[in-house]
Amino acid sequence: MILDFLFPPACPLCDTPVSTHGELCADCWASMNWIDNPKCAKCGYPFAADLDLGGTPLCPVCASGKCELDWIRAACVYDDASRGAMLPFKHGGQIKYARFMSRAMIWALRDVVLDADIVMPVPLANRRLFHRGYNQAALLARPIARALGVKIELDAVRRAYRPDMGHKNARERAQNIHGVFSVARPDAVRGRKILLVDDVMTTGATFSELRRVLIDAGAVAVYGVVFCRVARAI
Ligand SMILES: [Zn+2]
Ligand SMILES: [Zn+2]
Repeated sequence: MILDFLFPPACPLCDTPVSTHGELCADCWASMNWIDNPKCAKCGYPFAADLDLGGTPLCPVCASGKCELDWIRAACVYDDASRGAMLPFKHGGQIKYARFMSRAMIWALRDVVLDADIVMPVPLANRRLFHRGYNQAALLARPIARALGVKIELDAVRRAYRPDMGHKNARERAQNIHGVFSVARPDAVRGRKILLVDDVMTTGATFSELRRVLIDAGAVAVYGVVFCRVARAI
């Protein structure tokens, strides 16, 4: 291809030549802590690799019925390697990362029943969208919706502006996020099974709050997929 000649494919993270545009090189791929089995069958929480937990293992949170969504999947663990990709993607305009991230997220969906009717990126407050210029979750949601062959819903839910949650604990995050979402178009939500898309899951407070307003508006199921998730030892 002439484009490959003019712009040879290179790893988006380190510029090493690769065979396909947008894909990671072998070293960068190996540096990510991809989540494989065994993991929680419901929320995708990764377990130590040497645990034999049988057919449908559940983490303590899901075993006690407190999972934020009907199911959640993450491509990799939030650590130095994934943070090194995620922060420039989210705050540094590196939107070209969306390609390998969304592909990894589609891979993360390989063991769930994909019956979602719509794909919905976690909304960004307008004020934040204005400053950042893009909603990173929407960049990830587009290729996922395309791969699943379902509609993407961008403006059914609005998000009010709240200050950054960067250094808050779980309780403070839950308080900060409460009441932040409102359903602008209930007809787009009612009776639907919705797959939420976000770049990172930390405490799960955002998903939990979004699910609450979606179920209130008549959604029948709410799932989630993220690029990376915080995974503390349990
Ligand atoms: Zn690389
Ligand atoms: Zn779980």
